[in-house]
Amino acid sequence: MSLRFEHETLGQRIRFASGGAAHAVGEEVTRLGASRVMVIAAPAETALAKQITGGLPVVLVHDEVAMHVPVPVAERARAAAAEYDVDAIVSVGGGSTTGLAKAIALTAGVPIVAVPTTYAGSEATNVWGLTEGARKTTGVDPRVLPRAVVYDAALTLSLPVDLSVASGLNALAHCVDSMWAPRTDPIDAALAAEGIRALASGLPQVVHDPEGLPGREAALYGSYLSAVAFASAGSGLHHKICHVLGGMYGLPHAPTHAVVLPYVLALNGPAAPAAADRIARAFGSDTAIEGLQALRRRLDAPRALRDYGLHEAQIPAAVEAILPVVPDTNPAAVTTNDLQRLLHDAWEGADPR
Ligand code: NAD
Repeated sequence: MSLRFEHETLGQRIRFASGGAAHAVGEEVTRLGASRVMVIAAPAETALAKQITGGLPVVLVHDEVAMHVPVPVAERARAAAAEYDVDAIVSVGGGSTTGLAKAIALTAGVPIVAVPTTYAGSEATNVWGLTEGARKTTGVDPRVLPRAVVYDAALTLSLPVDLSVASGLNALAHCVDSMWAPRTDPIDAALAAEGIRALASGLPQVVHDPEGLPGREAALYGSYLSAVAFASAGSGLHHKICHVLGGMYGLPHAPTHAVVLPYVLALNGPAAPAAADRIARAFGSDTAIEGLQALRRRLDAPRALRDYGLHEAQIPAAVEAILPVVPDTNPAAVTTNDLQRLLHDAWEGADPR
């Protein structure tokens, strides 16, 4: 078979700088020529943000951050950015914080320097998301891609172990889904395989030694790779399922991804043997599902959607909403019964089959 594909590489500067975020962010802001910086950080991350933004020309600190970027929250942040005439945004926090910075960049074109403190990966994608009521809209726009990303593992030491595990498995899901997502290509698969390797090595270290930097660094590195692969490959079956569950029932983002992943892998793996083999090798295991499940056991990973607010009676409506958005390119044919079984198993935390 000939090798024919098209791949777009997104342009941004990436810095890994454990313990050195203040210096690195300062240089990136200078590089942008910015003199009126808006800092965005949720109240829980304000102290972290202060540590690294003290030397910047900050004109505004904004701390109203909410999961999935509700439109009124975005509107208030946009109005504040306009009122203070900001010329750069420094966002310090998880995917919700990066998401708010993107909402401003989408309409105002202000460049972002992102400092992620979870493994969500939003900082490495050109995807924005906004929520109006229970409806989540996403889109792609080059303006929302942060111009620079500063990864400082020291800033993630405060992320509790359970959140680290859920967030890390969210990143792992970007990797696994990228193996068969609609626009996947050999570059995405290579990035995703290295992402799996890094996360499978880093996350157990985070659990074993939450205060240690090497595991946190490996997890950040893996989450960056996962997001680059995901941004290029697009949403596969796993992301479609989680998007519906999050949007319809408000399930928490990272734990939902962590629970659903093995069920999607069990469904798609046998229909995508080359991808499954690649995933297995990245885990260093005989099969993909064994690799994932062994890692999940070591991490004491989230197991059942019922623990995160899904009710059994909500499954049929979720199945109905997911079926029309299953990608045509999904390796396994997916029926109503498959989805019903998958969601029921994920709801009760049954063994994936
Ligand atoms: P989040 O940003 O809501 O953070 C989860 C929790 O962790 C929050 O309570 C936050 O205060 C806390 N936290 C963050 N960093 C911390 C730290 N270092 N120490 C202690 N606590 C910390 O959740 P998330 O999982 O990071 O991101 C999820 C959101 O990101 C969702 O809305 C999702 O849709 C979005 N997302 C978007 C993309 C994209 O490409 N646009 C990609 C991935 C995720």
